[in-house]
Amino acid sequence: MKLISDEIRSGKILVSDGAWGTFLQQKGLQPGECPESWNLERPDDVLDIARSYVDAGADMIETNSFGGSSFKLAPYGFGDRVFEINRAAAQISRKAAGPDKHVLGSMGPTGKMIVMGDVTFEELYAAFKEQALALEAGGADALVIETMSDLEEARAAVKACADNTSCEVICTLTFEKSHENTYHTMMGVTPAQMTAEIVNAGASVIGANCGNGIQNMIGIVKEIRSVNKQIPILIHANAGAPLYKDGRTLFPESPEQMAGFVNELVGAGANIIGGCCGTTPEHIRQIVGIIRKK
Ligand SMILES: [Zn+2]
Repeated sequence: MKLISDEIRSGKILVSDGAWGTFLQQKGLQPGECPESWNLERPDDVLDIARSYVDAGADMIETNSFGGSSFKLAPYGFGDRVFEINRAAAQISRKAAGPDKHVLGSMGPTGKMIVMGDVTFEELYAAFKEQALALEAGGADALVIETMSDLEEARAAVKACADNTSCEVICTLTFEKSHENTYHTMMGVTPAQMTAEIVNAGASVIGANCGNGIQNMIGIVKEIRSVNKQIPILIHANAGAPLYKDGRTLFPESPEQMAGFVNELVGAGANIIGGCCGTTPEHIRQIVGIIRKK
């Protein structure tokens, strides 16, 4: 299979998939239930999500393994089943993707902070290595480290993936917009700071995910491009900033609204566009419609 970064360098704009977490909730995932346990207990429901994004026209799909590190699985009693759960996650997505589309093994934050003394860099590295090896064994050809806010944790994950697997390594952080119209993660990292550190650590695609909607991603992409003209950029935007109504979380941006910003985002320098929380197969279908017209 071609490397995603090579496809980008040949001039292609690619489309990624949409939300998994909010999709699992729609399918009945309960508060307090371990999302990744569905890879073993409800694989057909997970496969259905993966297939819906393939059917929508995505060039790549993720895996149901965002919380698949030992640190995240342990509180559910699955700390000793990291390999089994992550391998199953990748197998399910590979089954939906077939041999030609990319499978991106999803790896989220551990919830442990080096700066708080919760954990060491080496312990994070070991946990991400364990998860990455299982995702590769299940058929992932790329790994996407996402929703990171701490640069050291992101570096540990990127290095663990790059050192120990032959998967392509993608890393996205989650940025918020400040009142001064600057962007930074919860831990204060700017897109420009991320760019140098994460590329040096071994990522071949970088970018941003989650956050406050696709329009804010334009400024983030411009900031990355101001310090690096070449690195392929992946954007997984939420369907707008979440709203809380009657005890439920709603994401306000329609597929049409999101698709309306795609050309501007590509113009700013984004190479791969998909969705995060609240996005659906219809959001992806409409993004595909815009990209394929180019
Ligand atoms: Zn999200």
